[in-house]
Amino acid sequence: MSSRTLTLNESIYDYLLSNIRPESDAMRELREVTHATLRMHVMQVSPEQAAFMSLLCRIMNARNTLEVGTFTGYSALAVAEALPANGRIVACDLSKEWTDIGRKYWEQAGVAHKIDLRLAPAGETLSQLIDEGQQGSFDFAFIDADKSNYDDYYEKCLILLREGGLIAVDNVLWGGRTADPSVIDVDTVALRELNKKISDDNRVFSTMLPVGDGLTLAQKL
Ligand code: CA
Repeated sequence: MSSRTLTLNESIYDYLLSNIRPESDAMRELREVTHATLRMHVMQVSPEQAAFMSLLCRIMNARNTLEVGTFTGYSALAVAEALPANGRIVACDLSKEWTDIGRKYWEQAGVAHKIDLRLAPAGETLSQLIDEGQQGSFDFAFIDADKSNYDDYYEKCLILLREGGLIAVDNVLWGGRTADPSVIDVDTVALRELNKKISDDNRVFSTMLPVGDGLTLAQKL
Protein backbone atom coordinates (compact mmCIF):
# COMPACT_ATOMS: atom_id res chain seq x y z
CA MET A 1 0.00 0.00 0.00
CA SER A 2 1.14 3.48 -0.72
CA SER A 3 -0.44 6.87 -0.26
CA ARG A 4 1.55 8.25 -3.20
CA THR A 5 1.37 7.29 -6.84
CA LEU A 6 2.66 3.80 -7.46
CA THR A 7 5.71 3.31 -9.65
CA LEU A 8 4.56 1.01 -12.44
CA ASN A 9 6.80 -1.94 -13.17
CA GLU A 10 6.16 -4.02 -16.31
CA SER A 11 3.80 -6.49 -14.68
CA ILE A 12 1.68 -3.80 -13.01
CA TYR A 13 1.56 -1.82 -16.24
CA ASP A 14 0.53 -4.92 -18.22
CA TYR A 15 -2.18 -5.57 -15.64
CA LEU A 16 -3.41 -1.99 -15.99
CA LEU A 17 -3.53 -2.24 -19.78
CA SER A 18 -5.42 -5.52 -19.63
CA ASN A 19 -8.04 -3.95 -17.35
CA ILE A 20 -8.92 -0.78 -19.22
CA ARG A 21 -11.51 -0.47 -21.93
CA PRO A 22 -9.99 -1.95 -25.12
CA GLU A 23 -9.08 0.50 -27.88
CA SER A 24 -11.04 0.47 -31.11
CA ASP A 25 -9.45 -1.62 -33.87
CA ALA A 26 -8.48 1.59 -35.69
CA MET A 27 -6.72 2.96 -32.61
CA ARG A 28 -4.83 -0.27 -31.97
CA GLU A 29 -3.75 -0.56 -35.60
CA LEU A 30 -2.62 3.07 -35.75
CA ARG A 31 -0.67 2.72 -32.52
CA GLU A 32 1.02 -0.44 -33.76
CA VAL A 33 1.81 0.98 -37.20
CA THR A 34 3.31 4.10 -35.63
CA HIS A 35 5.37 1.99 -33.27
CA ALA A 36 6.61 -0.28 -36.04
CA THR A 37 7.46 2.37 -38.63
CA LEU A 38 8.62 5.51 -36.82
CA ARG A 39 11.69 5.96 -34.68
CA MET A 40 9.86 8.89 -33.05
CA HIS A 41 7.05 6.61 -31.85
CA VAL A 42 7.66 7.65 -28.23
CA MET A 43 5.88 10.89 -29.17
CA GLN A 44 2.66 8.90 -29.29
CA VAL A 45 0.53 9.05 -26.14
CA SER A 46 0.00 5.80 -24.26
CA PRO A 47 -3.26 3.82 -24.48
CA GLU A 48 -4.23 4.68 -20.91
CA GLN A 49 -3.61 8.39 -21.53
CA ALA A 50 -5.68 8.28 -24.71
CA ALA A 51 -8.49 6.53 -22.82
CA PHE A 52 -8.23 9.11 -20.04
CA MET A 53 -8.49 12.04 -22.45
CA SER A 54 -11.40 10.46 -24.24
CA LEU A 55 -13.16 10.00 -20.88
CA LEU A 56 -12.51 13.67 -20.02
CA CYS A 57 -14.14 14.73 -23.28
CA ARG A 58 -17.12 12.49 -22.57
CA ILE A 59 -17.53 13.85 -19.03
CA MET A 60 -17.40 17.40 -20.37
CA ASN A 61 -19.74 16.69 -23.28
CA ALA A 62 -17.02 18.27 -25.38
CA ARG A 63 -17.91 19.08 -28.97
CA ASN A 64 -15.36 21.63 -30.13
CA THR A 65 -11.73 20.77 -29.36
CA LEU A 66 -8.16 21.71 -30.18
CA GLU A 67 -5.05 19.62 -30.54
CA VAL A 68 -1.63 21.25 -30.75
CA GLY A 69 0.74 18.59 -32.06
CA THR A 70 -0.99 15.69 -33.77
CA PHE A 71 1.95 13.46 -34.81
CA THR A 72 0.39 10.36 -36.42
CA GLY A 73 -3.07 11.12 -35.07
CA TYR A 74 -3.57 8.56 -32.30
CA SER A 75 -4.73 11.05 -29.62
CA ALA A 76 -6.85 12.89 -32.21
CA LEU A 77 -8.50 9.57 -33.05
CA ALA A 78 -9.18 8.85 -29.36
CA VAL A 79 -10.77 12.26 -28.86
CA ALA A 80 -12.68 12.13 -32.17
CA GLU A 81 -14.23 8.80 -31.18
CA ALA A 82 -15.39 10.41 -27.92
CA LEU A 83 -16.98 13.43 -29.60
CA PRO A 84 -20.58 13.56 -30.82
CA ALA A 85 -21.31 13.23 -34.54
CA ASN A 86 -21.14 17.01 -35.00
CA GLY A 87 -17.95 17.33 -32.93
CA ARG A 88 -14.67 18.61 -34.30
CA ILE A 89 -10.99 18.74 -33.50
CA VAL A 90 -8.88 21.48 -34.99
CA ALA A 91 -5.66 19.46 -35.19
CA CYS A 92 -2.42 21.40 -35.64
CA ASP A 93 0.77 19.88 -36.97
CA LEU A 94 3.58 20.68 -39.37
CA SER A 95 4.14 17.20 -40.77
CA LYS A 96 2.16 15.90 -43.72
CA GLU A 97 4.20 12.69 -43.55
CA TRP A 98 3.18 11.93 -39.96
CA THR A 99 -0.45 12.99 -40.18
CA ASP A 100 -0.91 11.06 -43.46
CA ILE A 101 -0.27 7.89 -41.44
CA GLY A 102 -3.25 8.67 -39.21
CA ARG A 103 -5.69 9.71 -41.90
CA LYS A 104 -6.35 6.14 -43.05
CA TYR A 105 -7.30 5.10 -39.52
CA TRP A 106 -9.44 8.22 -38.96
CA GLU A 107 -11.39 7.11 -42.02
CA GLN A 108 -11.51 3.48 -40.90
CA ALA A 109 -13.03 4.61 -37.59
CA GLY A 110 -15.54 6.82 -39.41
CA VAL A 111 -14.39 10.01 -37.65
CA ALA A 112 -12.27 11.69 -40.34
CA HIS A 113 -15.00 14.31 -40.86
CA LYS A 114 -14.52 15.48 -37.26
CA ILE A 115 -10.78 16.11 -37.66
CA ASP A 116 -9.96 19.49 -39.18
CA LEU A 117 -6.22 19.12 -39.80
CA ARG A 118 -4.25 22.36 -40.19
CA LEU A 119 -0.75 21.83 -41.57
CA ALA A 120 0.91 25.07 -40.42
CA PRO A 121 2.82 26.38 -37.39
CA ALA A 122 0.35 25.83 -34.53
CA GLY A 123 0.85 29.33 -33.15
CA GLU A 124 -0.33 30.74 -36.49
CA THR A 125 -3.37 28.46 -36.62
CA LEU A 126 -4.39 29.41 -33.07
CA SER A 127 -3.93 33.14 -33.85
CA GLN A 128 -6.06 32.69 -36.96
CA LEU A 129 -8.87 31.08 -34.92
CA ILE A 130 -8.72 34.04 -32.51
CA ASP A 131 -8.76 36.51 -35.43
CA GLU A 132 -11.82 34.70 -36.81
CA GLY A 133 -13.65 35.39 -33.53
CA GLN A 134 -13.58 31.83 -32.20
CA GLN A 135 -12.38 32.82 -28.72
CA GLY A 136 -14.37 31.29 -25.88
CA SER A 137 -15.79 28.56 -28.12
CA PHE A 138 -13.64 25.48 -27.45
CA ASP A 139 -14.34 22.89 -24.76
CA PHE A 140 -11.03 21.07 -24.63
CA ALA A 141 -7.44 21.59 -25.81
CA PHE A 142 -4.54 19.14 -25.80
CA ILE A 143 -1.06 20.68 -26.02
CA ASP A 144 1.63 18.23 -27.12
CA ALA A 145 3.99 19.91 -29.59
CA ASP A 146 7.37 21.69 -29.54
CA LYS A 147 8.07 22.46 -25.92
CA SER A 148 9.75 25.84 -26.40
CA ASN A 149 6.46 27.27 -27.72
CA TYR A 150 4.24 25.74 -25.04
CA ASP A 151 3.71 29.09 -23.30
CA ASP A 152 2.41 30.65 -26.52
CA TYR A 153 0.11 27.66 -27.12
CA TYR A 154 -1.14 27.78 -23.52
CA GLU A 155 -1.99 31.48 -23.73
CA LYS A 156 -3.77 31.14 -27.06
CA CYS A 157 -5.67 28.01 -26.01
CA LEU A 158 -6.78 29.83 -22.87
CA ILE A 159 -8.27 32.57 -25.06
CA LEU A 160 -9.97 30.03 -27.31
CA LEU A 161 -11.43 27.97 -24.46
CA ARG A 162 -14.85 28.64 -23.02
CA GLU A 163 -15.23 29.25 -19.30
CA GLY A 164 -15.04 25.82 -17.68
CA GLY A 165 -13.12 24.43 -20.65
CA LEU A 166 -10.07 22.27 -20.04
CA ILE A 167 -6.47 22.41 -21.27
CA ALA A 168 -4.36 19.24 -21.02
CA VAL A 169 -0.61 19.90 -21.26
CA ASP A 170 1.54 16.86 -22.05
CA ASN A 171 5.10 15.94 -21.04
CA VAL A 172 5.21 18.25 -18.03
CA LEU A 173 7.55 15.90 -16.14
CA TRP A 174 9.72 15.46 -19.26
CA GLY A 175 11.30 12.21 -18.15
CA GLY A 176 12.06 13.82 -14.77
CA ARG A 177 14.13 16.63 -16.27
CA THR A 178 11.78 19.43 -15.20
CA ALA A 179 12.33 18.29 -11.60
CA ASP A 180 16.12 18.46 -11.93
CA PRO A 181 17.34 22.08 -11.71
CA SER A 182 20.73 21.12 -13.18
CA VAL A 183 19.04 20.44 -16.55
CA ILE A 184 18.85 23.77 -18.37
CA ASP A 185 18.26 23.01 -22.06
CA VAL A 186 15.69 25.20 -23.82
CA ASP A 187 12.84 22.66 -23.82
CA THR A 188 13.25 21.70 -20.17
CA VAL A 189 13.44 25.33 -19.03
CA ALA A 190 10.35 26.22 -21.08
CA LEU A 191 8.39 23.35 -19.52
CA ARG A 192 9.64 24.15 -16.01
CA GLU A 193 8.68 27.82 -16.34
CA LEU A 194 5.24 26.97 -17.71
CA ASN A 195 4.66 24.42 -14.93
CA LYS A 196 5.41 27.11 -12.35
CA LYS A 197 3.28 29.65 -14.16
CA ILE A 198 0.25 27.36 -14.39
CA SER A 199 0.47 26.36 -10.73
CA ASP A 200 0.30 30.09 -9.80
CA ASP A 201 -2.19 31.06 -12.52
CA ASN A 202 -5.43 32.34 -11.01
CA ARG A 203 -7.13 32.18 -14.42
CA VAL A 204 -7.30 28.39 -14.09
CA PHE A 205 -7.83 25.60 -11.57
CA SER A 206 -5.10 23.11 -12.30
CA THR A 207 -3.41 19.95 -11.21
CA MET A 208 -0.49 17.87 -12.48
CA LEU A 209 -0.95 14.13 -12.88
CA PRO A 210 1.71 11.41 -13.20
CA VAL A 211 -0.01 10.04 -16.32
CA GLY A 212 2.36 9.17 -19.16
CA ASP A 213 5.22 11.68 -19.06
CA GLY A 214 3.26 14.01 -16.78
CA LEU A 215 -0.05 15.62 -17.70
CA THR A 216 -1.28 18.96 -16.38
CA LEU A 217 -5.00 19.66 -16.45
CA ALA A 218 -6.04 23.31 -16.22
CA GLN A 219 -9.68 24.35 -16.19
CA LYS A 220 -10.41 27.90 -17.33
CA LEU A 221 -12.19 29.83 -14.59
CA1 CA B 1 3.69 13.99 -25.72
